[in-house]
Amino acid sequence: MRVQFWGTRGSIATPVPSMARYGGNTSCIEVRSAAGTLLIVDCGTGGHWLGQNLIAAGAKGLRGHILISHTHWDHIQGIPFFAPLFVPGNEWDIYGPKDLGQSLREALAGQMQYTYFPVPLDQFGAKIRYHDLVEGTFDIDDIKVSTQYLNHPALTLGYRLEADGVAVVYACDHEPHSRMLASGHGEITGQDLRHAEFVNRADLLIHDAQYTAEEYPAKVGWGHSTVEYVMKLGQHAEVKRVALTHHDPLRDDDAIDCMLASIRARLGENTSSLDVFAAVEGQVVELAPSHKKGPACRAGESQAQMPIELALANSSVLLGIADTKMATAFSKVIQAEGIHVEFFSDIDEARKLIAKNRPSLAVLEHDPPRIDGMETCRAIRQQGNGHDHQLPVVMVASQEVQAPGAATGVTDWLIKPFTGAYARTKIRAWVLRTACQWMREGYPEDEERRLARLPMHVQQHRRAGARARRSRPLPQKETEKRRFPENVIGTDKSVLLWMYCREIAPFETPTFGEKVGELIARATSTPSARL
Ligand SMILES: [Zn+2]
Ligand SMILES: [Zn+2]
Repeated sequence: MRVQFWGTRGSIATPVPSMARYGGNTSCIEVRSAAGTLLIVDCGTGGHWLGQNLIAAGAKGLRGHILISHTHWDHIQGIPFFAPLFVPGNEWDIYGPKDLGQSLREALAGQMQYTYFPVPLDQFGAKIRYHDLVEGTFDIDDIKVSTQYLNHPALTLGYRLEADGVAVVYACDHEPHSRMLASGHGEITGQDLRHAEFVNRADLLIHDAQYTAEEYPAKVGWGHSTVEYVMKLGQHAEVKRVALTHHDPLRDDDAIDCMLASIRARLGENTSSLDVFAAVEGQVVELAPSHKKGPACRAGESQAQMPIELALANSSVLLGIADTKMATAFSKVIQAEGIHVEFFSDIDEARKLIAKNRPSLAVLEHDPPRIDGMETCRAIRQQGNGHDHQLPVVMVASQEVQAPGAATGVTDWLIKPFTGAYARTKIRAWVLRTACQWMREGYPEDEERRLARLPMHVQQHRRAGARARRSRPLPQKETEKRRFPENVIGTDKSVLLWMYCREIAPFETPTFGEKVGELIARATSTPSARL
C-alpha cells in the first residue's frame, strides 16, 4: 500500500515560507493499494494539487473514491478545485458521515452555492455517487474500510483501511475523550480505549496532533489531540508508525522540528520502538506487510452504508438534568436535530419512559449533592428489562467519576465546560449508533406490546420495517450489493421512508400521518422480488 500526503496543515492553509517545508495545504492524503485502487482521504486544499497530478498523469476514465472525515472547511475546500471531478468519463464515489439533517451531498453543495463559488455541485462532469456512512465496515474493491466516530465538535469519522496485509488509520480531527490523557498521563479507558482498539496494531497511524500538552489547557473543546496523547495511544495500541499531522497553523517548520525531537527523545528514554514522524506535504510512505503481526481483524461490525432512517424515526432522548439553563440548552440542541426530548422527575418515571418509548439515549447530570446522576444511572441499569443495558448513558459532570469495575454503567462523559457544538455532536453520534444497533439486532420481543401504545401510523411504520428486516437476506460481498445495501430494506423503499421521516413527519396531522403510514406499510410489504 502506498500513501502520499498532499495536505498536512490543520484548520487553515498557511502559504508562508516559514511553513513551506512541512506544507501549507490542508488535509488530504492519497492511498493506493497494490491492485491500483485509488482512495483519497479528506480533500482540503491539498486536494487541488493531487487533482492536478492525476490530470497530468493523463489517465482516461479515472475511477476513484474520496472519504471525507467531516465537512469542516479544511477537509473539503479542495473539492470544488479537484479537477478530475469535472472530467466527463471519470467516476467518483464520495463518502462521509451521515448527518441527522442534511445529506453529505447537500453539505458539499453548500460550499459551492452561488454566494461562495461560481460553479454549483451539479456541474461536475464526472459521474459521482454520494454515500452517507455510519459506524461499520464496507469494501472499496480490495480495500476494507472501517469507520468510527471521533471526538470533535462536528460529526467526524475516522477511517481504518486494510489491504495488502497492512492497516492504515486516519484519525483527524480528534480530541482525547479524557482531558487527563491530553497530558500523556493516565490510563486509557472508556471511549479512549475504544479509539485505541480502532487504531490497534496499525502499520501507519495518521493522527491529528495539532497541540502540545502545554498548549492544551487553552484549547480544551477545540476538538484536537496533543502529540503526547498520540504517543500514548500509539504505544498502547502497538502501532508501528505514527504520522503526526493537522499541524497547527501557527506552528512553523522549526517549531515542528523541535516538537518532534522532544517526542523522539522521550520515546528513546522509554526504549519505545514506536516510529514517529511529522507528515510532510508531498511525502510518500510505502507500506509492506509486517512479518511479526498482521493488522487486527475487527469482528461483529455492521455495514457502514446501512440505511437507518427507519430506526431513526421517532427517536427520543431522555434528559435528567437539574440545572434549568443547561436543561433548556440541551432541549434546544436535541430538538434542533428533530429528536423528541423526554424529561423525568424521579427514577420510577425514568424507568417507565425507558420501557414505554425506548429512547435512543439518556443524558444525565452528576453534580452532587444537587443531583446524583451516578445513582440514577445505577438505577436505570438495574431495571432489568433488557433496554436498560442497551441504552447509552452520557453523563454530564465536572470530571469523570471513577467507580470500581463497570458498576457505574456510564457509557460516555460530557465534561463541563463544553460547547453546544460538542453536545450536539455527542448526541448525534449516540443516536446514530443506537439506530444502527436497532437495525442490526432488530426490535426487542415486546416491540408489539410497545407499538400498541403508539399512534396507529407509527405502529404501521415500525411493523412494516420489522417485516422488511425479517424478509431481507444479509448483504453479500458483491459490488452492486455494497453500493445499494439491502440488509434492511430495499433502496427505493428506504428512500420512501426517508422522505416520510424527514419531509412529511414534522408537518403531519394524525389523519394525514395515518394515510401516509398505510401507504408506506403497503409499499414496504411488497415481495422482495420486485425490488
Ligand atoms: Zn481540521
Ligand atoms: Zn474539524
